[in-house]
Amino acid sequence: MTGPSITPDFTALEVPMDTWSEPFWQGTAEHRLTFPRCTTCGTFRWPAGPFCPSCHAQPVDWVPAGEPRIYSFTILPVRSAGDDEPARQRIPVLVEFADAPGVRLVSVLIDAMPEAAAIDARLVPHWLPAANAVVPAFRLASPEISR
Ligand SMILES: [Zn+2]
Repeated sequence: MTGPSITPDFTALEVPMDTWSEPFWQGTAEHRLTFPRCTTCGTFRWPAGPFCPSCHAQPVDWVPAGEPRIYSFTILPVRSAGDDEPARQRIPVLVEFADAPGVRLVSVLIDAMPEAAAIDARLVPHWLPAANAVVPAFRLASPEISR
């Protein structure tokens, strides 16, 4: 017996922020995913930092990410509480976005049966509260489809 993947509890998590990453967290607080794109050359810069890896310029524009999909994932079994409890798992995912080429966001796939997780699967964001921020997690856009 297997249950859906676990939703982590981030309520005690203090998310580290700096000048360069704070706009990302301002976006998630409003349930938006945005990433910094170099104003000079158009390269997406993630993780957010002070200098463009391509042209060394500093200014960025924060742009909407577009549709999320699974770039990669893994399935971590979690010990069940007892024989009557279904087996559970955590599913860390690397997420890519239609409108932010090159960006890979480390996140977690929640409420998903492990056999339904697949490379390229379409996702929808789900917002989890942390101590000082709102953290993006993801659900499958079509949870009924499995490989
Ligand atoms: Zn640049």
